Amino acid sequence: MRKILLEKLERERVLSRSEFITLLLGYDEALAERLFERARHVREKYYGKDVFIRGLIEFTNYCKNDCYYCGIRASNGRIGRYRLKPEEILGCCEKGYALGYRTFVLQGGEDAGYSPEKIASLVEAIKRSHPDCAVTLSVGEHPREVYQRWFDAGADRYLLRHETADEEHYRSLHPLSCLPENRKRCLYDLKQIGYQVGCGFMVGSPGQKAEHLAEDLLFLHKLQPEMVGIGPFIPQRDTPFGDQPAGSLEMTLFLLGIIRVMLPDVLLPATTALGTIHPQGLERGMLAGANVCMPNLTPERVRGQYALYEGKSEADGKATENGKPAGVGKALKILERRMDAVGYRVVVSRGDCRRGLAADEI
Ligand code: SAH
Repeated sequence: MRKILLEKLERERVLSRSEFITLLLGYDEALAERLFERARHVREKYYGKDVFIRGLIEFTNYCKNDCYYCGIRASNGRIGRYRLKPEEILGCCEKGYALGYRTFVLQGGEDAGYSPEKIASLVEAIKRSHPDCAVTLSVGEHPREVYQRWFDAGADRYLLRHETADEEHYRSLHPLSCLPENRKRCLYDLKQIGYQVGCGFMVGSPGQKAEHLAEDLLFLHKLQPEMVGIGPFIPQRDTPFGDQPAGSLEMTLFLLGIIRVMLPDVLLPATTALGTIHPQGLERGMLAGANVCMPNLTPERVRGQYALYEGKSEADGKATENGKPAGVGKALKILERRMDAVGYRVVVSRGDCRRGLAADEI
C-alpha cells in the first residue's frame, strides 16, 4: 500500500490528504530508502550532482514579533541585540564573492530599525557591486508595496516559511497578532510580483500531527514555490517552548524526500537546523533529495546572538583551527569535502530554479 502511494506520488506529484497521512504514519526505514532513491533520481534529472550554496547574512536580530518557538522573539530579554550596518553587510558579500558565493540571503527579524527604504538601498548596493549575484530577502511579513519596492530594487528571491498550513496549529505557535491568513497572503503577493518564492515549515513543532503535515504538503502543491525550507524544530531555552522535544532527523529526511518527488525542480536546502541535530545532517539531507546549502557569512562577533534555537551557532561555526574560529573560507572548504564524500559537488553559480526547463534543455 505505502509502496503504491510512493508510485502514485511520483506519477501525479500529489496525494490526497488521507493518502499523505497514511504515508507519513507508515514511515519505516525501508520505505524511506525507497523514497530517497526516487528523490535522488529526480533531483539529478534537474540539477545533476550540483550543490548550490547561499551566503547567509543574519543582519539583525531585533524582532517585533513574539513567536513562541523563536529565540529572537521580542520578549526574550536574555540575548544581546545587534543590527549590522550596510557597509558591514557589503563587506560580508565581498568576502563571500571571492570564495565563490553567487547568492546572498539577507535574513533578519522584523526590525523597525531597518526601514523598507534602508533595505531597498542595501539591495541596490549589493546588486551594484555584484550584478551577477542573486539577492534573497527573508525579513518576514510586509505590505505588498514594500515587497514590490524591494523587487524593483533588484531582489530576486524571498524566503518566508508558512510555518504550518493549519490555522489552528498556527495560532498555537504564534501570538494573536500573527495571523495565518496574512502569512499566506504575503506568499501569494510575492509570487505575483515575480519573486522566486520559498515557503516551508518546522518538522516536529509542538502540537504538530500527521494531519498538519498533510496540510503543509497540500499547501506546497497549491503554491508551487521555487524553494522550500524545512528543518527540525529545536527548542530554545528562553522561549515558551524551551522544554519541548526537538523534531526528528528521520521525519525531516522523509519529508525532504516527499517534497523532492512532489516538486522535482524545487530548490531544497539541507538547513542549518538539520545540520544541528545530527553531525551528518547535511549529508543525509543531500541523500534524501536536497540540493542547496546555506553556510553562514554573518560576522563572527554577532553570530551567537542570532540564537533561533539551542546549538545553532556551534553548528554554524564548528570549523575551528587551533581553537580559533576558522572563518568562512575554511568552513566552505569543509563543506565542499563533506559534499564530495557523498558524491555531490559545490558549484559556483547563482543557482536559479530550473522550473519550466525540460530535462534535455538543462
Ligand atoms: N523573520 C523572518 C526570519 C525568521 S527565522 C521570517 O519571519 O521569515 C527563519 C526560520 O527559522 C523561521 O521561519 C522558523 O521556521 C525557523 N525557526 C525559528 N525558531 C526555530 C526553532 N526553535 N527551531 C527550528 N527552527 C526555528
